[in-house]
Amino acid sequence: MQIPAPFDYVRASTIDDALDLLARHGTESRVVAGGHSLLPMMKLRLARPECLVDINDLFELDFILRDGDQLRVGALTRHTALLESAEVARLFPIVTDAERVIADPVVRNRGTIGGSLCQADPAEDLSTVCDVLRAVAVIRGATGERSIPMSEFHRGPYETAVAQDELLCELRFPIRPRSGSAYEKVERRVGDWAVGAAGAAVSLAEDGSIDAASIGLTALGLDHIVAEAEAVLRGEQPREELFQEAGRLAAAASDPVADQRGPIDYKRHLADELTRRVLRRACARAAQTQEG
Ligand SMILES: Cc1cc2nc3c(=O)[nH]c(=O)nc-3n(C[C@H](O)[C@H](O)[C@H](O)COP(=O)(O)OP(=O)(O)OC[C@H]3O[C@@H](n4cnc5c(N)ncnc54)[C@H](O)[C@@H]3O)c2cc1C
Repeated sequence: MQIPAPFDYVRASTIDDALDLLARHGTESRVVAGGHSLLPMMKLRLARPECLVDINDLFELDFILRDGDQLRVGALTRHTALLESAEVARLFPIVTDAERVIADPVVRNRGTIGGSLCQADPAEDLSTVCDVLRAVAVIRGATGERSIPMSEFHRGPYETAVAQDELLCELRFPIRPRSGSAYEKVERRVGDWAVGAAGAAVSLAEDGSIDAASIGLTALGLDHIVAEAEAVLRGEQPREELFQEAGRLAAAASDPVADQRGPIDYKRHLADELTRRVLRRACARAAQTQEG
């Protein structure tokens, strides 16, 4: 049986309390939210925190809230809440698409968006989704609050801009008119991590041309965003040849590794095919959407 190394456990009652506990217990303390990533790593002794600071009582971090032209999502929001939110499905169907294929109900009932992003596993789905939606991360530490774009959030595999004594508090998603988004993932079996996945978000101008587009890949290289493919879409009318060109560019920009989930050629093929599919669906959804 795998058991973690000994550790202390404390339960925070407010955000300030959590920050205080992290500071007091020093560099070997770690936040625990749903525990679905951290606890398996502790059992495998890949992580050996001396103290866990449990943030599950911080209900102020568990919300989905429309605030003007943005949707605010607290870091402690569970996968299930995102999956079941009608507002999320209406404004950002890419999130609902992704949540449907993340793990299983047991993981989704406890796992949080904050834990997923802070874990920063290269095969993790919500990082790509947040990148594609150009979300902003709100982080709090002892010296105050800062907001950073998702483009500055990931520092590498399992590394983010959130310091050991800070808390990711919320994600802010800009709402754009006439926009649509989609996510598609290939997995070996239901609930598994991605062999490869792609996400896209587009907004359309009055004349139906693509005003802005973003494309992201999961598990197909360390960079999520495919800027080369985004550039060819801007100002163009959505059409099949354009999606094909974007797919080709996404495949060229992808940098997958061969592993038990498949060889490099197959994964490049996924980057191409999945990019086309999500663009098709994102554009169709945008055409049906009038309002943000
Ligand atoms: C069987 C299984 C299958 C899975 N399949 C998928 C999948 O298909 N796709 C996918 O994307 N994911 C998958 N996951 C991962 C799952 O989504 C994550 O484990 C989970 O959502 C992480 O969230 P958590 O709240 O459990 O984080 P925790 O395990 O509690 O924490 C993870 C890390 O984030 C830090 N952290 C947590 N919250 C904060 C915060 N607010 N501020 C600062 N740091 C914080 C912790 O200190 C820790 O380092 C799977 C997991 C399992 C166990």
